[in-house]
Amino acid sequence: MAKRMTKKEKERVDAVLERLDREYTTEYRCYLNYETPWQLLIATILSAQCTDARVNIVTKELFQKYPSLEAFASASLEELEQDIKPTGFYRNKAKNIIACTQRLLEVYGGVVPNDIEELTSLAGVGRKTANVIRGNIYHEPSIVVDTHVKRISRKLGFTREEDPEKIEFELMRVLPKDHWILFNIHIITLGRSICTARSPKCEECFLKEYCPSCGKK
Ligand code: SF4
Repeated sequence: MAKRMTKKEKERVDAVLERLDREYTTEYRCYLNYETPWQLLIATILSAQCTDARVNIVTKELFQKYPSLEAFASASLEELEQDIKPTGFYRNKAKNIIACTQRLLEVYGGVVPNDIEELTSLAGVGRKTANVIRGNIYHEPSIVVDTHVKRISRKLGFTREEDPEKIEFELMRVLPKDHWILFNIHIITLGRSICTARSPKCEECFLKEYCPSCGKK
């Protein structure tokens, strides 16, 4: 979208958000299972290039085997690799989880920080993971740009950018702050059910009236 939104563009954005709220409610939800902030951090690191459903299967046993940050920080690299193997990219993820939990204990006293710079200083934590933590744990307005948000924001004409960080900053400009967290939750739901990557079901989409990509491949 242009630097300054026209009145018409703003009305269209508001209409999309209003329809999303109506369809999916304004209740916050997280698709990853966790009980503590550090568990969500680890689950989010594991979710890179992996489905949330698979991460949830893996973490069910993982969090029993490693019940504390200390347990992860002192884990055997080879053993942790095997424990998280089904999530893919397990070598890097295991290395990052050990380094991340060690730093959390050494520098932050075991408390997951809410500052974006501090979060992204942890191994394996990029802006996406940091924003998941900020939104879900600290309820700080944050926009998580995952594969669904990237694809559907472009389809809706909210951005033309390709780079997740640029998309995040553009969405910050386009969306009102009170919808930054909700937008991700709603768009994941839409992307899994209606606006799927393979074949968007535009005919049955409740946003078709407002979507410039309706009916396009
Ligand atoms: S109208 Fe089609 S392209 Fe647009 S959001 Fe709905 S399913 Fe996706």
